[in-house]
Amino acid sequence: MHFQSGCLLKLSSLLSLQKLFSALLAVAVLAPCASYEPADAQVVKRKLPKAGFQSLMRPGPGAAGVGYSGGQTVPPGSSGVHLVPGLDRGNRASAGDWYDPGEPDLKMQWVRWEPRRMPLRVWISPGLQLPSLPFQELKSTRVNTVAQMCFSGTEPNPFSSLTQVNGWTDEMGEAVCSGIEMWKPFEQEGLFSFDFTGNPREANILVFFNDNFAGATEPGGISTGGYTCAQAIPYAKIAEALREGKNPRTPPVVMELSLGVNSTLEKLKAATAHEFGHALGIKAHSPYRDDIMHENRVVEQLSQADKNTIRRLYRSRTQWVL
Ligand SMILES: [Zn+2]
Repeated sequence: MHFQSGCLLKLSSLLSLQKLFSALLAVAVLAPCASYEPADAQVVKRKLPKAGFQSLMRPGPGAAGVGYSGGQTVPPGSSGVHLVPGLDRGNRASAGDWYDPGEPDLKMQWVRWEPRRMPLRVWISPGLQLPSLPFQELKSTRVNTVAQMCFSGTEPNPFSSLTQVNGWTDEMGEAVCSGIEMWKPFEQEGLFSFDFTGNPREANILVFFNDNFAGATEPGGISTGGYTCAQAIPYAKIAEALREGKNPRTPPVVMELSLGVNSTLEKLKAATAHEFGHALGIKAHSPYRDDIMHENRVVEQLSQADKNTIRRLYRSRTQWVL
């Protein structure tokens, strides 16, 4: 039995805020959300359009079964200060903070890669776009679609039929690389390891892109910035192969990133770090806005709680593996 899971990353659109509210209100809203636009001015603007607001009044993509938490019920026109719901640790932060990384759809059981699968192989596509689908279908089909393409045929590039997102640049690929590498320091602790590969057929984790997810803007301006699909497998199912020293072929993890929502290299890097956290097995979102694994990520670096959580996950026994 495989278990399909998916996880959404959503970001509020600052541009949309400014359109929606008066300049005065927008300034008031900007203060607590300053990390949307890093002040270091090293951000390179993309030519792709930002997430628009035309779909503001449409119902959201529907959260059923997707496995994320947090209220998204902000009606259009309500105060923007509620656009990024979540808890703040503030003065209550402690060095031992962590959050439950369990898979909500598996009663919060924990899922991670098995140490004998290391190093994981990560393939970043050159801006390739998978066929656009509604959210409800992504979770149940994405992994199988990509697995079939990877595991069948003999030509070197199994994705030759896919098109590149308009405006793709090498710098975007490098930003994605940097986001993934935020998790690199844990290799020194022996938690996991990963390499980048140029061969998608051998990849455990594959990264694709789009302009925007279909139906991606919810009321309140929350837009989907990323989506990661995986199939959790009972450990017992691959235990024998691992005991025999084999590296069993299992369905890949599929990451998709919106270049419209992540409209700067800094945003793309941080969104990638969030999605790669899911790809490593942090299935649930943190309820705290301080953490990169918060559903509506506002920070751009791993927090102490993110670090503590991945350590706990990889130092635990799990029944489910990726
Ligand atoms: Zn997420």
